[in-house]
Amino acid sequence: MLKRKMIKNFTWPLKTATREIEVTRLYPEFMMELPDAERGIHELDATICIGCGTCARVCPNSCIEMVNFKFGSPLKNKKMQFPQIDYGRCMFCGLCVDECPVECLKMGKKVIMAGWTREDLVKGPDFLSTKRFSAKEVADLEAEAKRIAAEKAAAKKAAAKEGAAKEGAAKKPAKEGAAAPKKENDSEAKPKEGGAA
Ligand code: SF4
Ligand code: SF4
Repeated sequence: MLKRKMIKNFTWPLKTATREIEVTRLYPEFMMELPDAERGIHELDATICIGCGTCARVCPNSCIEMVNFKFGSPLKNKKMQFPQIDYGRCMFCGLCVDECPVECLKMGKKVIMAGWTREDLVKGPDFLSTKRFSAKEVADLEAEAKRIAAEKAAAKKAAAKEGAAKEGAAKKPAKEGAAAPKKENDSEAKPKEGGAA
């Protein structure tokens, strides 16, 4: 028995030495395929993010900060605020993703985040965004937002003017109506006076 084991110990290395067996991967040149459920660096769709800050509020480790970046839609995200994540504190729980009301944040499959300093682990919206508007598109959207705001202001002004005119018209007959009964009272009072005389 012992003899057989000893022989195996010699023959096994000889066998494997002649075969090509993949023992390690040349990381990071060759990455292993990650499963769909992998929770890596977040992916942000800046074109639909509304800058509500819900992700920052629900994060149990307080690792999300809202910062300004001009590559979203001013029609949806008026303050142009997007999440910035500190991966030195993130535990990849996915709560921020679950609570995003417009589903613009998801867990990605990027896992390389090593850096030389602590600050390198803080990834801004420019790093996280997989979709964003160009400067020209943002300028066009801003012009559109201004036009819509001007239209709304004009409509509000017109409605207020119309309301004031209606109120004025409603007050006039009321005044006239208030004067009429006075006359009736006068006419009623006169016969009484006559009757007394
Ligand atoms: S990523 Fe989602 S939750 Fe966070 S600010 Fe944008 S819309 Fe709100
Ligand atoms: S995955 Fe969890 S810990 Fe990381 S930013 Fe989102 S809520 Fe915070």
